[in-house]
Amino acid sequence: MSNYKMETKCVQSGYNPGNGEPRVLPIVQSTTFRYTSSDQMGRLFDLEESGYFYTRLQNPTNDAVAAKICDMEGGVAAMLTSSGQAANFYAIMNIAEEGDHIVCASALYGGTYNLFAHTIRKMGVKATFVDPDCTEEELNAAFQENTKAVFGETIANPALTVFDFEKFAKAAHAHHVPLIVDNTFATPINCRPFEWGADIVTHSTTKYMDGHAACVGGAIVDSGNFDWAAYGDKFAGLTTPDETYHGIVYTEKFGKAAYITKATSQLMRDLGSIQSPQNAFLLNLGLESLHLRVPRHCENAVKMAQYLQGHEKVAWVNCPSLPGSKDYDLVQKYMPDGTCGVITFGLKGGREAAVKMMDKLKLVAIVTHVADARSCVLHPASHTHRQMNEQELLEAGVQPDLIRFSLGIENIEDLIADVEQALED
Ligand SMILES: *Cc1c(COP(=O)(O)O)cnc(C)c1O
Repeated sequence: MSNYKMETKCVQSGYNPGNGEPRVLPIVQSTTFRYTSSDQMGRLFDLEESGYFYTRLQNPTNDAVAAKICDMEGGVAAMLTSSGQAANFYAIMNIAEEGDHIVCASALYGGTYNLFAHTIRKMGVKATFVDPDCTEEELNAAFQENTKAVFGETIANPALTVFDFEKFAKAAHAHHVPLIVDNTFATPINCRPFEWGADIVTHSTTKYMDGHAACVGGAIVDSGNFDWAAYGDKFAGLTTPDETYHGIVYTEKFGKAAYITKATSQLMRDLGSIQSPQNAFLLNLGLESLHLRVPRHCENAVKMAQYLQGHEKVAWVNCPSLPGSKDYDLVQKYMPDGTCGVITFGLKGGREAAVKMMDKLKLVAIVTHVADARSCVLHPASHTHRQMNEQELLEAGVQPDLIRFSLGIENIEDLIADVEQALED
């Protein structure tokens, strides 16, 4: 990790050109790399030597952007993936296999909920979902002999529940497993989960990091803090020989980079959810201004939430940064500078009024997205979370009338005027 301040990391980390080299991160648009010696190519395949040979495994553009995100989070190793879904899938499957189990906070992004509740279950990995507000006793009771990880979202999408890092980290570590946190909504600008005990951080870079709705992507960052070798029987994949790499033991050969190296050399090799260097380049442009955009998203969110709170047709508003919000104490502790640009609210007329109001918006668009420069709304019960039944919706913190409002970085007066006209009869 560099000692630079966050703003400097956003702009400069990850790429440091030498004399006469391009000032801007180049897009290495090549699937492959040339070598003059067949022996050296062999050593690369054996992980005996580091170097590029095929973009499915590693690419210089992708590596530079991963290194920047790694520095911003304060980690030791990182990788990019093709999407946030791939990042969360790999983060779990890198340490869990058939017969294993994970513990998750139940307030999750709909796609992650499906992945954990259904898809990985078919692969033999079961998840127990716990209420984010559970007591320590309830949380500890969710663990099993075969539990391999604890998972949560810094700010849950769209429930906006704030994750109690210390409570979950304590339980994870007492059971000798890592805490994996999806930090998509807060971004490292507002919260750095490693400072609160998380071991692995994931991102959907599709959201604020790209910030312009230009490219889908994901990232996994390792803090290097979890001692896999101390619990070698639980994490045999990292601490015993990998026969597909001539008996390499990841923890012995790669030390603190063991987890990311294994995820790259096994999961990326076999499953192939790579980021394209083009998209990594675009993501990097987004990262360069992340520290400027995130505070504006947050400021607009608070102002819109205050406006909605004062409107007679609005039944309720959830903005974690507002005093009186359910998780306000957790916000003050973990992300006092701001939370995110997403708020949720419900109208007195319920689901029907929500749909009517959304259809009247002009500047704010109905899109399946959050966290980009343009303001947008979505009705999760009819859109992102429509596969869920009523019970699952409530467990994920999604009321049927909930409107998710992602504030962009436009002028707030124009946004409020748009909402005002949409709420008129
Ligand atoms: C969007 C999102 C994901 C999934 O990311 P994709 O890039 O769309 O695959 C995962 N977690 C959170 C919190 C998200 O908001």
